[in-house]
Amino acid sequence: MDKYVITAACVECGVCENRCPSGAITEGSNKYVITSHCTGCGICINVCPVNAIVKKIRKMCVHPTGNSLKKRSVCCGPVVMTP
Ligand code: SF4
Ligand code: SF4
Repeated sequence: MDKYVITAACVECGVCENRCPSGAITEGSNKYVITSHCTGCGICINVCPVNAIVKKIRKMCVHPTGNSLKKRSVCCGPVVMTP
């Protein structure tokens, strides 16, 4: 699973693509994108001049039958955002 995502703030400077040690960043149709090759090293976050790269937020479902957060493809309860 991708750990980071490039937001619409990307100005397509290409710095992150050049610095990613895994070759996980590539030019998309209207901005750069992070592929599944991302290892989560975090280098790209620190080199982006406009802070366009952020940690991916996962939607988690608070399962109504228990206290634990269970990741589900279909939400059955209140949704919380976790890093
Ligand atoms: S976190 Fe590391 S591996 Fe993932 S896209 Fe950024 S620089 Fe590449
Ligand atoms: S370093 Fe930032 S602005 Fe430059 S291409 Fe990457 S995400 Fe876009």
